[in-house]
Amino acid sequence: MSNPSLLILPGDGIGPEVMAEVTKIIGWFGDKRGVTFDVSEDLVGGCAYDAHGTPLHDDTMAKAQEVDAVLLGAVGGPKYDDLDFSVKPERGLLRLRKEMDLFANLRPAQCFDALADFSSLKKDVVAGLDIMIVRELTSGIYFGEPRGIIQEGNERVGINTQRYTESEIDRVARSAFELARKRSNRVCSMEKANVMESGVLWREVVQRVHDTDYPDVELSHMYADAGAMQLCRWPKQFDVIVTDNLFGDLLSDAAAMLTGSLGMLPSASLGAPMANGRPKALYEPVHGSAPDIAGQGKANPIACILSFAMALRYSFDMGEDATRVEKAVEQVLADGLRTADLLGEEGATPVSTSEMGDAVVAALDASL
Ligand code: NAD
Repeated sequence: MSNPSLLILPGDGIGPEVMAEVTKIIGWFGDKRGVTFDVSEDLVGGCAYDAHGTPLHDDTMAKAQEVDAVLLGAVGGPKYDDLDFSVKPERGLLRLRKEMDLFANLRPAQCFDALADFSSLKKDVVAGLDIMIVRELTSGIYFGEPRGIIQEGNERVGINTQRYTESEIDRVARSAFELARKRSNRVCSMEKANVMESGVLWREVVQRVHDTDYPDVELSHMYADAGAMQLCRWPKQFDVIVTDNLFGDLLSDAAAMLTGSLGMLPSASLGAPMANGRPKALYEPVHGSAPDIAGQGKANPIACILSFAMALRYSFDMGEDATRVEKAVEQVLADGLRTADLLGEEGATPVSTSEMGDAVVAALDASL
């Protein structure tokens, strides 16, 4: 069997800095676990624009379609703020998501015990939290037609359309049920079936997919506004939440804040299975290119490292190794290591990006 293949796109700002730490971990798997990844690296975002006049070269796009998984750092920066919208760094990322048809966006909200004090919620509400939000990413109100701002009589009207086909709901529901089976086997579907027809259809299709193919998974339904309240009241009641593009955007950001720093949050975007059975997949930290700290060795690499752990679990069926990486991160935090973004008290000394990466590698060594 050939080695699993990875395309690494470090991107701009702190992207290359955090990705360098992931590269150490990929190397560790080759050296210590006998799992060698075929890694290729390319440009995306502002650096691709500088080199090619486009934020994503066609050759890079073609490579992304061929590999088992894409790992991305971050794109963007003030240098590119005045570029035309069509060549802005973010367009590179949007093109990847669109052409790979990555319809299921996975955003875990996990609270490491050592960081429970960081949340704005009470410690006992968030300690040990481990939930997963599955957001539909390629349809819904951000894409529906008609859209625009039109003139109606003597005033303007802003229009966006929420639109979901049965097959779009069906496939993202399946992603959520499959995920739940690898976790605590519970899915809560959120919509606004009380006031939106698209929500009525959403609820109906999710229930149908469940009854037909996933009766073993526990399914509940909740209105998205009530869901937002429950996320703040007692988030540990959830395992997997599946919801549409708009509600998922809001709910996943709210859930993210339960856990503290932006530098801790990984994500995965998955599409349909390829010929080898693996899903099309892009893994990336939730944070951006953080131009305010770029090049200073201050960036927290954990979000990017945890994104690689998600790749191990969801693209390469290496769940135990994914857990090994997550436990290594947990250990390092329990030992008190903190990058600057994780430091509460004044006077404490932060570790650098590469010191944090080295500590995770050392914790991986200790796990053998
Ligand atoms: P940002 O996520 O880059 O930064 C927000 C704040 O969080 C900053 O203070 C930053 O220093 C801090 N931060 C972010 N990641 C961190 C990390 N790993 N470790 C420590 N601190 C971290 O968001 P922004 O400032 O709104 O955007 C900056 C640029 O990034 C913009 O060009 C924006 O368009 C782009 N962006 C890209 C992505 C992406 O690539 N997916 C996502 C969001 C923003």
